[in-house]
Parts: sequence; C-alpha cells; structure tokens
Amino acid sequence: MTIQEFLKYAKKNLNCFQTSELKYELKILLEDCLNMNTDALIINKDKEIDSSKLIYLLQAVKMRKQGFPLQYILGSWEFMGIKIKVGSGVLIPRDDTRVLVEDISQAMVNKRDLKIIDLCTGSGCIAFALEKALGNNAKIYAVEASEEAYKYFCENFKSLNSRVCGAKGNVFEFYSNFEDNFFDAVVSNPPYIKTSQIKNLQKEIQYEPTLALDGGEDGLYFYRNICKLWISKIKPGGYLAFEIGEGQFQEVKSIMLHSGISNIQFKKDINGIIRVVTGIKIAETPKINDL
Ligand code: GLN
Repeated sequence: MTIQEFLKYAKKNLNCFQTSELKYELKILLEDCLNMNTDALIINKDKEIDSSKLIYLLQAVKMRKQGFPLQYILGSWEFMGIKIKVGSGVLIPRDDTRVLVEDISQAMVNKRDLKIIDLCTGSGCIAFALEKALGNNAKIYAVEASEEAYKYFCENFKSLNSRVCGAKGNVFEFYSNFEDNFFDAVVSNPPYIKTSQIKNLQKEIQYEPTLALDGGEDGLYFYRNICKLWISKIKPGGYLAFEIGEGQFQEVKSIMLHSGISNIQFKKDINGIIRVVTGIKIAETPKINDL
C-alpha cells in the first residue's frame, strides 16, 4: 500500500470524523510513523509503505475508529514545545493549559530563588513547561497520586533531563511534608468534571483516566480542598493559580476568597473561555477550622 492509498483507506474508514480534523490527525500520524515532513509525504505519495509500518498504521486507524485518542497511539504529544510522553492512565496535555503556564511564568518573571509546586501533575506537562520557562530562577516541585500517571511523569523527567522534584503522593496528605510559608506559588490543573457528567464526555475523553477527570459531585472538590490544605504553605504575598472547567470561575473565585486569597484575576483561553483563576495570599492565613 502506498502513502496515497493508505490516506484514501484511512479517510474512508474514519469518515465519522470532521474532514479538517482528520486531515490534521493523519498528517501527524504519517509524519511521526514514516519520519517525514509534509513536503516529503507529498513527494513520496506513491511510495510503498514498509510492511511493519503499515501494520502499525492500519492498527492505528482501527483504534482511532473506536475513539482511542491519537495522542495515546503516538505515545507522546507536544506541549509548549516539549515532547511529553503519554498513554492510557495519564491525562493528555491540552493546549488550553498553556494559559496557566504563561500566567505563572509572567507572574514570577524577574524573581529569584522561587519555589513552585504543581499539584496533580499527571504527565508533568505544567511542571516541565514551568521549568523550561523559569530556568534556574525556580525550583519546581510536582505531586501526582496515580501510580500509572506517575510512571509517565518519571519517563518524562528522564527524557527531558529535568530537575523537577517529583513525588507520588496524594495532595490531600502531601501538604504536611512542607513547612508553612514555603512556596512562592502553588499551581494546579486538578480534575474538575462533575462525577455525573463523566459518562457524557466525548468518546476520546472516556479513554482518559477517571481519576484525572473526576472533580466530585459539584466538580469543585479539588479546588476546595487544595485551598483549605495548601494555603498555609504559600508565602504571604505568594501566588495561587488554577486551571478550571468552563463556567466554574465564580465558584472557584469564591472558594479562593474564603480561603484568604485576594486580588483574584481571570484569564481566558483562545476561545474566550475563562480557563485560569489566580490570586495572591493575604498575609494572615485563616485557621483551617474557621473556613
Ligand atoms: N496537571 C496535568 C495536566 O494539566 C494533569 C491534570 C489532571 O490529572 N487533572 O495535564
């Protein structure tokens, strides 16, 4: 089968997908598998595909037809110019998360000796992107509860030659390992989907780990508990930044205000949806029992 014949076959088999999306996916799949750029694919369109590569490509079409995410088939996905290894058991880095990383990088720019922690780090995409953006000015910490996701974090840690200080741990317990007023910034893109909505998500997302999606009954479980448990770990004047789901900004703002975070700001993604909520810790941390 030639490249052109494969494309025809794949388009026919995957006609349930939107044409532009499918074109993009097939381009990425072929570029990755055949190690060719778009121009080379066009020039070599009548070239026979190597049989082992063809088996892989046909299998990829079959899996994609069942909704298995392309990112898992490829085994890696680019996030802010960093190749992040992914697979079943870890959340796929989303382009929306760029808003969160850019916001923190800007808020922390020109500061030195920073300590920043990424809670529910998953693949580590946020932590590694912050490391890249802030260089030697920051020591980045990262925590992930899921065994499977943490394996991907470790693989990424090695392949990126990273210095991020990662740990497998539950964010609802792990806070006790740090002294009060330790961090300049706490950042998280936690699970935020309402439990009842998980079954209604698109097919691709259903393949992603429930643990990384399920934000409890109202979707806000992590925001509430992270604020409650981690606030004392942020330095006075320090920063808290969350990625949120669509429409959660008022509720998350109110959770943050109640926890002693002020100067709340919203940041929108490219679709105009508020994706990030940030705030500054006021000097006095209210006692956990007062919240
Ligand atoms: N922080 C990781 C990411 O942004 C994982 C998030 C999660 O598991 N909910 O991809």
